[in-house]
Amino acid sequence: MLFEGSHRDIGPSLESIGAAFAIFEMKSADGAAVLASANTLFEEVSARPVAECVGRALSEFVPRYVEKPIRECLLRCLKEQSPQEDELVVEREGSSRWWRLVASPVVPTLAGQGPRVISTLIEITEKKLLQQELEVTRQRFEAVVQTAYDGVVSIDEKQTIKLMNESAKYIFGVIGENVVGSNLSRFIPQRFRVKHPDYVASFRNSSVDARPMESRVPVRGLRADGSEFPIEVTISKIRVGSEIEMTAVIRDISERVRLIEELSRAASNDPLTGAFNRRHGLAALKSELARCTRFGHSISVVMIDLDHFKQINDSYGHACGDSVLKTVVETVGGTLRETDILCRWGGEEFLILLPETSAEEALSFAERARQALVAQPVAGCDEQAVAVTASFGVAALVDKATTPEQLIGRADKALYRAKEEGRNRVVLDR
Ligand code: GH3
Ligand code: MG
Ligand code: MG
Repeated sequence: MLFEGSHRDIGPSLESIGAAFAIFEMKSADGAAVLASANTLFEEVSARPVAECVGRALSEFVPRYVEKPIRECLLRCLKEQSPQEDELVVEREGSSRWWRLVASPVVPTLAGQGPRVISTLIEITEKKLLQQELEVTRQRFEAVVQTAYDGVVSIDEKQTIKLMNESAKYIFGVIGENVVGSNLSRFIPQRFRVKHPDYVASFRNSSVDARPMESRVPVRGLRADGSEFPIEVTISKIRVGSEIEMTAVIRDISERVRLIEELSRAASNDPLTGAFNRRHGLAALKSELARCTRFGHSISVVMIDLDHFKQINDSYGHACGDSVLKTVVETVGGTLRETDILCRWGGEEFLILLPETSAEEALSFAERARQALVAQPVAGCDEQAVAVTASFGVAALVDKATTPEQLIGRADKALYRAKEEGRNRVVLDR
């Protein structure tokens, strides 16, 4: 049989094998393996000419860390009487090379010869290096995703969650839970769930690979405790085998939205009374006047000035004056329609915009507001209720060429007349 002869007999035949090839003879039960024959390619592992190694124990020509796994594999092979595999790494001159060792037993037929094992060594360095590179990439990805401040959630085409990092779990209130395999819909408010699969499908089929999602419309998330919150989402997609996976980078923008609301409120509202401020009132008047003029609709404005307000301050103090102003806004505001705009024009002066309102309608609105003030003395000043009245000047749009300033000027003029005629009354500028 081919594998039973001496190196001189079988060596030349082994040269035709296209991989490093060696035949070992086991000399004792503890596994001392002696090289019986090998081909030249085996010198890549032995690092010595085969001729010098033949007849020697494996431990004499390879380092211990190489000898041990080979010997163990050979012994396993003999014990099981079946082919065995292992991977070896051989360090040489500062570089590592990996080999796959396949050992197969040879049934001994020659008397006096120990059992032999044939070993094929195939170099797998390239594959190993690729695997290592892949592992580094995986670890890097894992570290970036898991330590990211933003939430990262990956789903497949059926919205099944494939990955959810710690930040996303924190944002959605599911720390410590295993959410992989569950459906994304649990994190979407009920009213958006029906349409979501359509969005996923349309993004899946679009030629864009990454885009901010609905960046102009606030996107809402749903926490495990049922509360909703605004989020900013960027989505991207990748092909994973035959599937497409979509990944969302999610940022909780509750705080940002709250600040923006606070700022825009501060920019357009009067802090004392909560009514709109003069800046907002003037801007609203400009746009409403332009709109009503364009469509030929009516619009009116009412200028209000509290009567003898200085006396209220003088008699009850400035703090009482402040609460009078607040009460006036509440009382007058209570008589308004959704589309009317009440703003604090200055100290104790208020301007009301009444879109789609004729002179007569504005007159009767102002009269209602005047009476509401009379009927509602302001409580809490110096133990007694303080009566407060106001004078109202009303102006309606008659000439299409009227500017906001002209309209306000006419309301002011009417207000002046109301004061002159005795206060606590409504006067229309005709
Ligand atoms: P008239 O009936 O002619 O309008 O008399 P009046 O006293 O209301 O008129 P005047 O314009 O002389 O007084 C307005 C007063 O409003 C003077 C000012 O101290 C007071 N005032 C303006 N802003 C505020 C405010 O924010 N809080 C308080 N408490 N008073 C204010
Ligand atoms: Mg005044
Ligand atoms: Mg006044």
